[in-house]
Amino acid sequence: NLKKHFPIKKGAILPKQVGAVKAVDGVSFHVRKGETLGLVGESGCGKSTTGRSILNLIKPTEGEVKYKGQNIAHYKGEQLRQLRKEIQIIFQDPYASLNPRMTVEQIIEEPMRAFKVPASERKPKVEKLLNVVGLSPYHKHRYPHQFSGGQRQRIGIARALSLDPELIICDEPVSALDVSIQAQVVNLMEDLQKEFDLTYIFIAHDLSVVHHISDRVAVMYLGEIVEVGEVEELYKNPKHPYTQALLSAIPEANPHKKRDRIMLEGDLPSPSDPPQGCKFHTRCPFAEEQCKVEHPKLKDVSTGDHQAACHLVNEVVKEPVSG
Ligand code: SF4
Ligand code: MG
Repeated sequence: NLKKHFPIKKGAILPKQVGAVKAVDGVSFHVRKGETLGLVGESGCGKSTTGRSILNLIKPTEGEVKYKGQNIAHYKGEQLRQLRKEIQIIFQDPYASLNPRMTVEQIIEEPMRAFKVPASERKPKVEKLLNVVGLSPYHKHRYPHQFSGGQRQRIGIARALSLDPELIICDEPVSALDVSIQAQVVNLMEDLQKEFDLTYIFIAHDLSVVHHISDRVAVMYLGEIVEVGEVEELYKNPKHPYTQALLSAIPEANPHKKRDRIMLEGDLPSPSDPPQGCKFHTRCPFAEEQCKVEHPKLKDVSTGDHQAACHLVNEVVKEPVSG
């Protein structure tokens, strides 16, 4: 039940809270060891805030984040520092997340320095990590600007691996890259997952990016999870109208059953003033009166591991499209 509400304040001298941006508004999900959970939704839906709250880069307003049975949401100081060995993050923008004044070697060894790993171990580890991410040890004395976007993201990945983490929050790691490079980086991340037994939370705004890498996918809308399920089940049998709309935008997601593109009306409502009832009702082609007043909870929609938050989920049987 994770929540992160950012207060909106007005007044210069004695600022008063006049509202809140409900960036994350009661999110619950689990991630199993060794799996990849794809977390998908339009920009502004709260997926990055969710990712950062897990890492404690942002303090949640409410709720718990459990890691190996411990609530880590309120870790501070040394406890939090130790947690950084196990949970790392890869950022969207490899241009902004690497210090331009540091060499590749300094960048990759920085987390190890912070944990007082001796130089005699750091140096060979940097070389190994450069090999592992498909760069060369000869690159270690160069600076970030001497690399392409894809190579910079490889440097960011090497840095994230330097402390042998177990869980990596991947916050849109390929969104800033050319489409031709995206697949290479995603493939690398899959190989690394197998090699180092990693668990990923893979954030993306596009269902096509997470299809290949995810075991399960969670779809977010306005700070809530509206659907979550095993990847093949969710892509073949999407139950929430929002997921259906997102999937209909990518023809290759389902080459056998051609879906008509579902166009969503209107813009994403403001997370400071979300619609009552089902937050999606202002854009949903199936909205009914009930949807405007009653907030739908996630419920099981079929056998297997699949839930959706829609009142009509067990009622509307969509005509199967033959093909
Ligand atoms: Fe649409 Fe109603 Fe389902 Fe919300 S609850 S997704 S508005 S049908
Ligand atoms: Mg984001």
